Order: sequence, then structure tokens, then C-alpha cells
Amino acid sequence: MTLRISVIGTGYLGATHAAAMAEFGFEVLGLDIDPEKIATLTAGQVPMYEPGLSELLLKHVAGHEGSTGRLRFTTSAQEAAEFGDVHFVCVNTPQRKGEFAADMSYVDAAIDSLAPHLTRPVLVVGKSTVPVGSAGRLAERLAALAPVGEGAELAWNPEFLREGFAVQDTLRPDRIVIGARGGRAEELLREVYAEPIAAGVPFLVTDYATAELVKTAANSFLATKISFINAMAEVCEAAGADVTQLSAALALDDRIGGKFLNSGLGFGGGCLPKDIRAFMARAGELGADQALTFLREVDSINMRRRSRMVELAREQCAGGFLGRRIAVLGAAFKPNSDDIRDSPALNVAAQIQLQGAQVTVYDPKAMDNARKMFPGLTYADSALEAAEGAHVVLHLTEWQEFRALDPAELGAVVAERRLLDGRNVLDADAWRAAGWTYRALGRPS
Ligand code: NAD
Repeated sequence: MTLRISVIGTGYLGATHAAAMAEFGFEVLGLDIDPEKIATLTAGQVPMYEPGLSELLLKHVAGHEGSTGRLRFTTSAQEAAEFGDVHFVCVNTPQRKGEFAADMSYVDAAIDSLAPHLTRPVLVVGKSTVPVGSAGRLAERLAALAPVGEGAELAWNPEFLREGFAVQDTLRPDRIVIGARGGRAEELLREVYAEPIAAGVPFLVTDYATAELVKTAANSFLATKISFINAMAEVCEAAGADVTQLSAALALDDRIGGKFLNSGLGFGGGCLPKDIRAFMARAGELGADQALTFLREVDSINMRRRSRMVELAREQCAGGFLGRRIAVLGAAFKPNSDDIRDSPALNVAAQIQLQGAQVTVYDPKAMDNARKMFPGLTYADSALEAAEGAHVVLHLTEWQEFRALDPAELGAVVAERRLLDGRNVLDADAWRAAGWTYRALGRPS
């Protein structure tokens, strides 16, 4: 009999995971505490922008013409508990207010709502990003609350998907890491992931703590690589060098590689910033805080990018923002996503607005989210409309659409042809040739 899978939490991670599990051929039930999200998903719509997810959902959500009907959604934890042989926990683990540590209350609540209804042996699999040590604690909590006791087994299976590529990353990840204490966990998860395993995806089994750490270590490495090149950008600015040429040359060294080596406005989103902070907090609790002091520097280099961008914009406005119009291209924390959590673009836009400028923002997909979170900013329906009458144009999220902008067309509507490229991807020569002052972080003016 095919396994039945429940997915608890249907946000960026969970909705994609649920659809991918249906694609693998399983019967899937997605559970969320947000009734609106569940109604949207049940209607076959995606509550966020993620390339390819809409098609995958429609292919499987029950009640839609031509769908496999393998995927359903509910708000009932009891229904999910009774349905699933394997339960994936995909709920949010945000940064606690006023602290670096992760807020584990959603994960705890998910276990607490599921466990009392577990009356037969099942596997609960944590996918959320959690502080090392959480899985051990949660395994005890689960066994204590479940009527089936230790028959409710726990495994940890950290998720490495990238927003914007979530579907392909879930169907064919770089690796599958499982933290388990033996029992049936490995066997069941080999069954769940049979398709990617058959396609050659490495399947690694470790203890709980190592699996948890693979995730936080990977994110720390990526954040460090970004902050490394951004630190180089600071030095380049001071020395009159060009960080884009520097990174292109560094990338040719196989040991270094070019990925995550583009200097710019730095990282944001719902993962890297909060994950490195939670990692530092957890290391402190474990008495290993010294090991991660470098992450504090990684974080501050990253945050300095945002203030440097505001400073550059102020310079372009002859020292003051009052009465100036600024166009901001981009609101999402990265392209191909509508996610604005800790978005560097919106952070810069809000800082500039606070200092007296009138800021108009345009993003291809993140406008609704941005409007909700930053109602004080002005929004436009296109890059061209945002740029109307602008004294400075800021390019802050590297959507393909912005790379394709015509400098002459934009130049015809702005008040002054001043461009700050916060992502170092626009063609500086083309913009300069069209009469623009082009400035970027880490490059000579
Ligand atoms: P999200 O906020 O988009 O989704 C979380 C969902 O869980 C929400 O819909 C929320 O309503 C729901 N939820 C909260 N408590 C619940 C409960 N008790 N029962 C059922 N549903 C509940 O978050 P996300 O971006 O999907 O991230 C989820 C986890 O995955 C986090 O730990 C994150 O660090 C990790 N992660 C995210 C990504 C990513 O790119 N988004 C990648 C890898 C790992």
C-alpha cells in the first residue's frame, strides 16, 4: 500500500513539499492553521509566487479537472494525524523578538497538536530549520504526548531548497540528509525519496545533531561567502578598485568558485539572517560561542551594505533627501520570489523615505506583500512609472526584467539620470552611454 503523507505548515517550504510528494505518487494531506491559506490551496491557487508551483499544484489538487486528486488540504490536526503514515513538519521558525534565538513555539505547537491523535506507529519528520538539540527534545515530547508512545518515531530531514527554484530543488535536491535514531525512519524515508535516490541524489544518514547542523552550517557558509565579497567591496571602494573584476578573477579559481560571490546589497529573506543569528545564540547556550564570533562580523558586514546604499543615494541627492523623488526597482529579497521577509531592498527604501524622500517602489511579483508591510511607501505598476520624475533610480533586486530595461527609455522620464546599481548586474557601459551617472557598491565612480 502506498504511504500516506501529511505536511504540517503549507508556506514556502510546506506547499512545495506537499506538491512534490504528490508528484512522487503519494496521497498527501497539507495542514495549516491559516484557514485562508488552506482555502486558497484547496482552490488550486498558490498563496505565494514560486515558479512552477502553480502547475504542480493544479496537477494534483483534488477536485480539479484532470488532476490526480492525490493532494488535499485541511485545518484539522486530528484529520492529518489520522491520515498520515509519515508527517513532515514544515512550520516557521522565525527570530524571536528582540533576541537572536529561534522562536520554536510553532514547531512545539505543531507537535503538540498532532501527537495526541497518534494512535498507530508513524514517523514524524522535522524539516524546519531548528537549533541543534531540538530534535532530541522533540522526540521526547512526541513520545510523551502520543498515545502510541515511542511508536511515534522522529527523524530530522533539513530542507535546502532555494526560493525561486523551490520546485526543482524539492524534486531533485543536491542531497537528502536524514538525522535518525535507527528504527524504521531510514527505511520509510528511503521509500518516500525513492525517486530522487534512483536519480542519483545522495542520501546521507546521520545522528540528529549532525543533521540539524548540516543545515545551519550550510547557511552560515553561504552567508560568509556573500559577506566576504562584500567586505572586499568595501576595500575596493577605499582603494579605487573594481569588485566585479575582482570577483570574476577569484571565481576562476576552482577552490573558490563563482557562486554566491557577487558583491551587492547583501543577503536577506526568511532564512540566512535569522539562521546565522539563531546559530550564534545556540552556540552560546552550548558554551561554544567563541567558535561562531565570525558570524557576528558576517552579519554586520551584511547590514552595512544597506546603510552604504542609503549613503550613496544621499550623495547622489547632493547630501539631502528632502523634496527628492527616489525610484526603487525591486522589493522582494531576491528575484523570482515574492518573499519580502527581511528584504534589503525594502529596508533601504524605508530608510530613505524616513529621511524625507518620496520613494516609489516597483517589483514584478512582490507588490502585494510590500504594500501590506510598508504601506507608507508609494507603489508603481512598472519600472517606467516608478522612475517618472525620479532624481535617483535604485536597482535593488536583480530581476531579469530590470536587466532588460532600456536606459534611453527610462532616461526620458526621470528628472535626473542617476542610477545606483545595488546588485552589480546592469550593463554600466550601456547606461553611461545613454547619459546616466552609474554608481555601484564596490566600484569606482
Ligand atoms: P512560512 O512562514 O512561509 O510557512 C510556515 C507555515 O506554517 C505558515 O503557513 C503557518 O501558518 C504554518 N504554521 C505555523 N504553525 C503551525 C501549526 N502549529 N500547525 C500547522 N501550520 C502551522 O515559512 P517557510 O519559509 O515555509 O519556512 C518554514 C521552515 O522551513 C522554517 O524553519 C525555515 O527556516 C525553513 N526553510 C525555509 C526555506 C525557504 O526558502 N523558505 C528553505 C529551507 C528551510
